[in-house]
Amino acid sequence: MRKLICAIAVAAAALAAGSAALAAGGTLHMFMSEKAVSNVSDPELKRLLERNRDIVLWASWYPDSGYAGGNKYGEYSHWSEFHNGYIDYIRNDIGPSHPEYERLIAHLLGAMAHGFEDQVFDHLFIEKVTEADGGTQDDVDRGLDMVCMGEHGRNELSAAARLKGNPARLTPVSHLEKVYEKLGAPWPDIRRQMISGLRFLYLAFEGTKILHKNESEIVRQKIPWGAANYMQAPGGVEHLGRLTALYWEARWKKLNDIPVDLVFATYPENGGALISRRAGTVDSSINIFFSEKYDQSSITPETVFVTGPNGARIDGAFHWSYGHNMLQFRPAADLPADSRFDVTVKDSIRDMFGAPMGKDYTFHVLAP
Ligand SMILES: [Zn+2]
Repeated sequence: MRKLICAIAVAAAALAAGSAALAAGGTLHMFMSEKAVSNVSDPELKRLLERNRDIVLWASWYPDSGYAGGNKYGEYSHWSEFHNGYIDYIRNDIGPSHPEYERLIAHLLGAMAHGFEDQVFDHLFIEKVTEADGGTQDDVDRGLDMVCMGEHGRNELSAAARLKGNPARLTPVSHLEKVYEKLGAPWPDIRRQMISGLRFLYLAFEGTKILHKNESEIVRQKIPWGAANYMQAPGGVEHLGRLTALYWEARWKKLNDIPVDLVFATYPENGGALISRRAGTVDSSINIFFSEKYDQSSITPETVFVTGPNGARIDGAFHWSYGHNMLQFRPAADLPADSRFDVTVKDSIRDMFGAPMGKDYTFHVLAP
């Protein structure tokens, strides 16, 4: 959901011209994060997220404000260096006694959810839409917001209603300005960029409200598989509602100095089945999710590998999926039917700070 610049430009133009084309990505992000809030099991974290639901939801679109209207901070704001700088700021410069502490955590977790959701959505769901429908990322991002808004009543978000008159209301702009400054980010006009970008997002949301009724049918014809499966498919709204909750719980532990495993989830889950055993399809991929950015150089065929029947190694390739929290393994040849595959992630793999995982992580998946 990263190519928002053109989508937003089209949205603004569409609103101005009253034409039928338009934009977004944010409706799906906010829906995934809302699902994630209800899926969180840690009671303290859940209460924090519920008390600040509108901040979390609106923050779930925040990184894309950095692509809008010629802004420059979009890509940077999707990824781990920004997340960790933001965490450091909250811990070291703000602290739990600050009146805005909780709201900042809510915004941080919303923004982190966005980057994580992009990794999984783009590399599980959009790849499948491309295989099934030939659709592109733009078709999916702008198109499915239209479909989703109509089908699930997402035009009635209280977060969006609160932005009327001030699209920066739910975003801690002054704190973010300091986070970027501490990270040495090269945008002296970052405050102006943020305020303008947030206005673009708000306009795109309002534009989707106007246009989704007419646009949805066009989208359903263009990407029928995508439009029929964006809720339930791997990498879709329900799946990311579950994974994002687990990701938040891992990050929450880290914020509270509680040890957390580097691998926090997989797809398929342990003991789960691949949808397909056919090589070259996303449905035969094995996916591993990391609570912290991994050190790519520590991931090799010796440290992450898959064995099949009789312990034979399965040849395949890694897809880095933007190289932060998701690693995808794709088999080089069709997998044997009715088989079990054991996946090993060795203790020696490291996170971006050089910390080794410490113990092996193993799970298995089944071929249909
Ligand atoms: Zn994005």
